[in-house]
Amino acid sequence: MINILFSQEYKNHDTGNHPESIKRIEVVNNLIKEKYTKQNLIEPTIADKNMISLVHDKEYVNYIFDSIPTSGLSYLDPDTIACPTSLKSYLLAVGGSVDAVKKIIDDDNKKNVYFCAHRPPGHHAERNKAMGFGVFNNVAVSAQYALSTGKFKKILIVDFDVHHGNGTQHIFENNPDIHYASSHQFPFYPGTGSSNEIGIGNIFNCPLPSGCNSDTFKALFRKNIVDKINNNFDLIYFSAGFDAHKLDPLASINLENEDFYWVTKIILEKLANNVPIISVLEGGYDMKGLFHGLDNHLKALLEYSNE
Ligand SMILES: [Zn+2]
Repeated sequence: MINILFSQEYKNHDTGNHPESIKRIEVVNNLIKEKYTKQNLIEPTIADKNMISLVHDKEYVNYIFDSIPTSGLSYLDPDTIACPTSLKSYLLAVGGSVDAVKKIIDDDNKKNVYFCAHRPPGHHAERNKAMGFGVFNNVAVSAQYALSTGKFKKILIVDFDVHHGNGTQHIFENNPDIHYASSHQFPFYPGTGSSNEIGIGNIFNCPLPSGCNSDTFKALFRKNIVDKINNNFDLIYFSAGFDAHKLDPLASINLENEDFYWVTKIILEKLANNVPIISVLEGGYDMKGLFHGLDNHLKALLEYSNE
């Protein structure tokens, strides 16, 4: 069984015609209703400022709280919008990602699987900067919290969103206990993610050429990520973005629906030694691509949880 953290509240983060829109969470909602009603659905709780400050500067956190408009929209960066009711989504997206860690610890670090159906995405958010639709780095706060409990010694974050997770890489590039592996179109937004960015030997970047198809993706992903990393982690995250799908309007990678099953499965088979998994939604801006990509990702997670 998969545990799915989901809230209708994400429909109140209203970005209008922006690609990172309310429609995305409606698609996720429809997928859960259609195919995953037997899974354990959980409401996330909100994160407080102290929790968010595990990876973000306190001044930045205060700045975001103070930047929420009372009417209309605020731009936190040229791509990143806040409406009057956005703050709760930001806090639930972080809080739910942390809730998953707390629940895993309560269950004695067993092989539990959590999917956090959150928006906005977080992997571009830097310590002190909103970026690329995201305000707080949901995965980074959660992973830092997990480490701070002392219950996990070594954590892997696998990011298959089509964009490089500059925020996550920068936050952890000097942390020997957290490894970050990312496949992404390169060169492309946000500009980071070349294969020479290796941190302290804990960063594994897999740049993908524009137009890359399934076969090239699989070969590069094996060579640069799967074959380079050991299976000695006690917690694995997915930064699960579905914008490398061939239908996605924001990028030029041509993955098929089933490739999201493949990429999830190979990580679980090769690198997850019966450990808990937390997957957190990142991008995915074509509604069909998001629906089918996520369905394939969840299918692989479900199989792992039932093994
Ligand atoms: Zn993306």
